[in-house]
Amino acid sequence: MGDQKGIETERAPLGITIKGILSLIMSTIDEKKGRRVISLGMGDPSAYTCFHTTPVAEESVADALQSQNFNGYAPTVGLLQARIAIADYLSRDLPYKLSSDDVYITSGCTHAIDAAITNLYRPGANILLPRPGFPIYELCAAFRHIEVRHFDLIPERGWEVDVDAIEALADHNTVALVIINPGNPCGSVYSYHHLKKIAETAEKLRILVIADEVYGHLAFGKNPFVPMGVFGSTVPVLTLGSLSKRWIVPGWRLGWFVTNDLCGTFKNPKVVERLKKYFDICGGPATFIQAAVPRILAQTEEVFYMKTLNILKQTSDICCRKIKEIGCITCPHKPEGSMAVMVKLNLSLLKDVSDDIDFCLKLAKEESVIILPGTAVGLKNWLRITFAVEPSSLEEALGRVKAFYQRHANQEFKY
Ligand SMILES: *Cc1c(COP(=O)(O)O)cnc(C)c1O
Repeated sequence: MGDQKGIETERAPLGITIKGILSLIMSTIDEKKGRRVISLGMGDPSAYTCFHTTPVAEESVADALQSQNFNGYAPTVGLLQARIAIADYLSRDLPYKLSSDDVYITSGCTHAIDAAITNLYRPGANILLPRPGFPIYELCAAFRHIEVRHFDLIPERGWEVDVDAIEALADHNTVALVIINPGNPCGSVYSYHHLKKIAETAEKLRILVIADEVYGHLAFGKNPFVPMGVFGSTVPVLTLGSLSKRWIVPGWRLGWFVTNDLCGTFKNPKVVERLKKYFDICGGPATFIQAAVPRILAQTEEVFYMKTLNILKQTSDICCRKIKEIGCITCPHKPEGSMAVMVKLNLSLLKDVSDDIDFCLKLAKEESVIILPGTAVGLKNWLRITFAVEPSSLEEALGRVKAFYQRHANQEFKY
């Protein structure tokens, strides 16, 4: 057991984090080789000029800062004009209108995840998470002592939720289920019909839905993006989002926690008071960033959104084409949204690679390419490839993966 008075070290194993495993992989890179390192690991495309944010966003922030009106504290739930703007932005896609009281401004979507999980805590509570998923959920749940139960996403069905598994996993202590749509790590975009089925299942089980829509609108395949809040009259939905992905500014730390709840659970004064107190602890993003939100949401041009979608479509196509040339990995479902795809590793075709982590360590050492082992997102012997990368870098990185495979394949290659 951990030291009662000290920092808890043994009681709550905190598991794997994406950043932790990527820094381990990075550390194996041989700097002396002088080869350019290409990362398909983290989802931060802001480093590439083709993914630069819109000037509207930068100007809005600069103007807010220079106005000298936003150097003070913001209300802990967020600046009113930003809450109104986010309510309006999200309401565009809903059959009802959100109010500013439904919106709490957070330090990125990460903080919104913690807000959701912390405020759902009660003794014995458990929460249902997707596998593969986003490990911040597991990490938050471990800190907050909430039990985690996993349901599978099914690759052959476009990574849809195994709805029957949800029913089997849930009991009277289950408080919520999480869906990530558009999906990280799978690149899936759920249909209206599938989302409806999830909402109806949650209603039947009397649990709420946490909808991580940090990739909202980043859909470039056949299914349009449908926000889970559309089903807010069926089941209470907590919508989590941020500027990070659609505007490609993850460093700005501007996110939201939004209650889509026509049933009124989150209007209960006791619940509201508790939420407000939670937000008193953490504060939110810098006030001048919040102050820029109304203009960013109102004035970002359609061409900026389209440009991002076109590049993601193009890079996801490159990704799928190159993957087909690499015998030891297969992609069960072409990505239709977000910035990442899951591919299955066939170890039987490799002579000296023991698992996904070993694959990624050796690949980094020999080819200076970083890929995330599936283990980090809950699927051993899979890989997560981020395609939000400048096209020529992506081509080169996957070319190096192919060369790596040919060197490690257990059959001879003839050229
Ligand atoms: C990137 C990401 C987040 C975190 O978003 P931030 O706004 O950068 O905190 C949350 N959930 C998923 C699924 C993500 O991919």
